[in-house]
Amino acid sequence: MKDGLIATTREAMHFIDGAFTAGSSGRIFDNISPVTGKKIGIVHEGLKPEVDAAVAAARAALTGPWGHMPMAERSALLHAVADEINRRFEDFLEAEILDTGKPRSLAAHVDIPRGAANFKIFADLVKNVPTESFMLETPDGAGALNYGVRKPKGVIAVISPWNLPLLLMTWKVGPALACGNTVIVKPSEETPLTTTLLGEVMNTVGVPKGVFNVVHGFGPDSAGAYLTAHPDVDGITFTGETRTGEIIMQSAAKGLRQVSMECGGKNAGIVFADCDMDKAVAGTMQSVFSNCGQVCLGTERVYVERPVFDAFVARLKAGAEALKLGPSEDPETNLGPLISEEHKRKVLSYYALAKEEGATVITGGGEPDMPDEMKGGAWVQPTILTGLPETARCVKEEIFGPVCHITPFDSEEEVIAMANDTDYGLATALWTEDLTRAHRVARRIDVGLVWVNSWFLRDLRTAFGGAKHSGIGREGGVHGLEFYSELSNVCVKL
Ligand code: NAD
Repeated sequence: MKDGLIATTREAMHFIDGAFTAGSSGRIFDNISPVTGKKIGIVHEGLKPEVDAAVAAARAALTGPWGHMPMAERSALLHAVADEINRRFEDFLEAEILDTGKPRSLAAHVDIPRGAANFKIFADLVKNVPTESFMLETPDGAGALNYGVRKPKGVIAVISPWNLPLLLMTWKVGPALACGNTVIVKPSEETPLTTTLLGEVMNTVGVPKGVFNVVHGFGPDSAGAYLTAHPDVDGITFTGETRTGEIIMQSAAKGLRQVSMECGGKNAGIVFADCDMDKAVAGTMQSVFSNCGQVCLGTERVYVERPVFDAFVARLKAGAEALKLGPSEDPETNLGPLISEEHKRKVLSYYALAKEEGATVITGGGEPDMPDEMKGGAWVQPTILTGLPETARCVKEEIFGPVCHITPFDSEEEVIAMANDTDYGLATALWTEDLTRAHRVARRIDVGLVWVNSWFLRDLRTAFGGAKHSGIGREGGVHGLEFYSELSNVCVKL
């Protein structure tokens, strides 16, 4: 058997029915480093034949050893998957860094460990989730017992994005497998490597063939579209842009297939004058600039109560200007590049639009001057804007870069209205030392996640997901079982 990445040449292959394959499409595309703009490998593109083969393998595995495996054994295998990811931590780290260009420290603290943890948490969780039972009174007095049984949903298509490739993919694969499903993953075309490596891990620990499959490629007219349209896929779980989610829902409508959607955001950060300013500045720095702003939960709209507005803007400016852009391996780097040249053009077009819309550029607003070897990379300056009306496109649309707009506010009512005046509803961070206010405001923000004096602090047992255009359904904890399992009721007349 060939390795998924063929180590040094970094040829990302499909992983179908327990084996790596180039497939039959004959199509390949380049994997480009966002740090340098240079080619770092090739990726095989899957089309209908590869998707058909992967779906058939997943279907067969459902009725094979995986389908009959006792839960305790399945759970032990998923623990072994996590342990093997951790044993090969450096391989995963290197692969993630190559694909994304993110700082090594970030990937080492977030992407890889959380990616591994996703298998353990759901493997443990499914063993301990009760189902409901009801006694029904009947006219003969004997009664009837109702109880719920959770079964796997079946063959699940996983469509994942590039911003936290391993973490967001395993966030779906972990619960899907824990519930007894089989999966076909279509990772983002920008970040194929860690998903491919996971195929090696599955074989090493002895997950039966066909349980976990990977088909590489793009969305339209490629692996993504073929997979989501496949009639033998029972459910589709997607993380990515809202407009892609809408297209996938149209595919899912045929055959009434269920979808789980984690989509975009235009998240607010709200800084009250009674906040602990050090915490608010540090937290907002993180929520705006982590992962070069490419976090769905990131803050792009900051609202600051007027008495502390100038001080907050000055401190965020100082923080942004102290960020060190550079290669992943440099321990001083805390801001990497964007994912691609295409995304860089999009973010820079928003920087230009902000100026046209009348923004004051507090810092950044363009391209940084990088050393020669990185000039071809997808680098942009961390950027802070002020002065735009709430109707400006830069305040309304998700940019997904290291940028925020800061608006002053005068009252709680006003800021709640501004925070909610968006099509999205993913996350909000509140900064205040007044806990009564924090509870009062938190429940009035129309989002799936509210953080108070923190950001991205995740307890994996809690619900995760977005309101409005940010998504459908909730993942995390027991909530993911709504999507990853089929609940049936057994009624026994006594
Ligand atoms: P994207 O929508 O461009 O792509 C996501 C995935 O969908 C990729 O694998 C892509 O190949 C695939 N795809 C694209 N078109 C498709 C089609 N027609 N049919 C099937 N598959 C298709 O998103 P992205 O640019 O990779 O990721 C960034 C976006 O993801 C941002 O909007 C961000 O907010 C969102 N996101 C949301 C969450 C969340 O949890 N809510 C988390 C991370 C990212």
